Amino acid sequence: MGPGPSNVAPEVLQAMSQPLVGHLDPAFIKMMEELKSMLRTVFMTGNDMTFPVSGTGSAGMEFCFVNLVEPGDEVIIGVNGVFGTRMVDVAERCGARVTKVESPWGQIITADQIAAALKQVPRPKLVAIVHAETSTGALTPVEEISKLTHAAGALLLLDTVTSLGGCPVRLDEWKVDATYSGTQKCLSCPPGLSPVSLSARALEVARHRRTKVQSWYLDVNLLASYWGQERVYHHTAPITMNYGLHAALRLVLEEGLENRWRRHMQNHLALKSALAAVQLELASQEGHQLWQLNPIRVPKGVDELAVRKRLLSDFNIEVGAGLGPLKGQIWRVGLMGDTSARENLRLFLSAFCQVLNECGRPTDVKAAQAAIG
Ligand SMILES: *Cc1c(COP(=O)(O)O)cnc(C)c1O
Repeated sequence: MGPGPSNVAPEVLQAMSQPLVGHLDPAFIKMMEELKSMLRTVFMTGNDMTFPVSGTGSAGMEFCFVNLVEPGDEVIIGVNGVFGTRMVDVAERCGARVTKVESPWGQIITADQIAAALKQVPRPKLVAIVHAETSTGALTPVEEISKLTHAAGALLLLDTVTSLGGCPVRLDEWKVDATYSGTQKCLSCPPGLSPVSLSARALEVARHRRTKVQSWYLDVNLLASYWGQERVYHHTAPITMNYGLHAALRLVLEEGLENRWRRHMQNHLALKSALAAVQLELASQEGHQLWQLNPIRVPKGVDELAVRKRLLSDFNIEVGAGLGPLKGQIWRVGLMGDTSARENLRLFLSAFCQVLNECGRPTDVKAAQAAIG
């Protein structure tokens, strides 16, 4: 119940234990097509260039930046947690001139902040935002930022690593030009692939660069020959991982996106009312709280690390620690993918309340349980 990896269904593990086929085998190629098609459905896009990059979410981040950014390009990046900070590092390594738009950790990036930055930057190439900041639990609204970005002639890049499969991600409706996600958050698959999608506009930009993409491995112009119709060998696809993602996406679509989002919302709301019943609260901004990542504020006088250690050693429950300015201030409780289940929530609450009592913070287990019904 931490910030990922989330629990993985037996069907996915089973798919990953099958004998190998080759990465150019007709059976594998057929599976690749299904994978692309399911990813389009989950991302809610018609983008042709939609496929899983070999590597974790951070590889997808690099994929987007190395393909779209050339040395000297102006890039605006929203920074309100760990992953916005990481995007700045990656963009600078591509030679971008980065303008940071910063919010306190736990708060969202607002459209007004982006509008102000767009006024300062003469020729913005790209605006990059983290949709769901896993380090803080904030969900930044995309639509208004997208309008401003396009009005300024820039591309919109959205990190959907934690949002995909847990809350609405509507690439086409929001006119997102580039996105990367991950398998181990709300898709409930082991880590190892990064689903990405580029709009036709973004693809044009990548195709007509002045300079070569500095990463051979992540160059979309080369990857397109393998994931497109030519099937030219580029690198050996991690075959087993792709079968795992195929099985995980089938489960996502079997449940249905709307049902899945609703499940994530309901379990988040249940946790929130249980916390209120024992005078605890979330540290993320009211009105913009993530369903899949719940940052519980550590009450005064309680040893944050001691609670986390006891949850793990006595109850086999893992929760995440706060990072950066939130270190020692919050516990990060993940309700991602398969982990977002009422029985997990019940187990967590009884264990958590018990540990808090033992750590000297009187907490009414029955009141917390009653609040979630
Ligand atoms: C986890 C995460 C990443 C990085 O993914 P890795 O799989 O750890 O490389 C990037 N962005 C967000 C929002 C994340 O939650």
